[in-house]
Amino acid sequence: GEALAVSARVAPLGSRLVLLLVEDLTEARRIEAVRRDFVANVSHELKTPVGALSLLSEAVMGASDDPEAVERFAGRMQIEATRLTNLVQELIDLSRVQNDDPLEDAEPVRIDELVAEAIDRCRHQAGAKQITMAAGGTADLSIWGNRGQLAAALGNLVENAVNYSPARTRVGIAARRVTAPGGDLIEIAVTDQGIGISDKDKERIFERFYRVDPARSRATGGTGLGLAIVKHVAASHSGEVTVWSSEGQGSTFTLRLPEAGAARDRATDDQTPG
Ligand code: ADP
Repeated sequence: GEALAVSARVAPLGSRLVLLLVEDLTEARRIEAVRRDFVANVSHELKTPVGALSLLSEAVMGASDDPEAVERFAGRMQIEATRLTNLVQELIDLSRVQNDDPLEDAEPVRIDELVAEAIDRCRHQAGAKQITMAAGGTADLSIWGNRGQLAAALGNLVENAVNYSPARTRVGIAARRVTAPGGDLIEIAVTDQGIGISDKDKERIFERFYRVDPARSRATGGTGLGLAIVKHVAASHSGEVTVWSSEGQGSTFTLRLPEAGAARDRATDDQTPG
């Protein structure tokens, strides 16, 4: 009787184990496929500017008797080199946010400082397009997290808002505290009056290297990695990033992240003995 009871208990356990193993293998295969695609995508993205640079340098050599042409080609070489630098920088950012534990050097990070830094980062591009940037509600709010990663996330959202908007429009950054069951959150919304994003594309823009219009993205120095970085930073801070958009009207990207006071209280609770 005992043996039968035991085997009856083991049998379902056995099939569960097999199922878990199969699930594990499927997940491992999926991760492997993502990694392969990533390497293929990176290689492709690197080859494009390198190929252009190589062609342009040949053109420069062939045009040595035409100073105007040389200048024109050199200008385009500079653009391609900038593109390459941006891509490498974003790859470094991405690997950093994926590998660093954001809560290791977590501290209260002031929103007004993050916002000022983000605006500063695209002051040049915004100025060239006469885009007005306005921030509100940022005083006295802080997020609990990794300063560098949070700056990269907000910087990317503001940069996109400027890049995907026509001239003489407005980019708004608004922050507020919202009450949530697990502790207060800080909500930062970046709103633009730009080209907008279709429902179909909304689901995919957070993927690495996904771009609605690759040509347009490249023209602005885009790499397709920005929103993947934002999503990663939000998730690793126990937060989220969401998008609202209407094609031709504009978009709002909203970050929700743990408020410094609330998150710090939770961290202290965890350390309380007993
Ligand atoms: P990129 O370097 O191309 O800007 P991102 O990952 O930051 O890459 O964004 C992915 C794509 O999402 C962009 O190529 C663009 O098509 C779209 N996108 C991002 N932000 C906006 C925005 N504010 N308005 C319209 N489209 C946007």
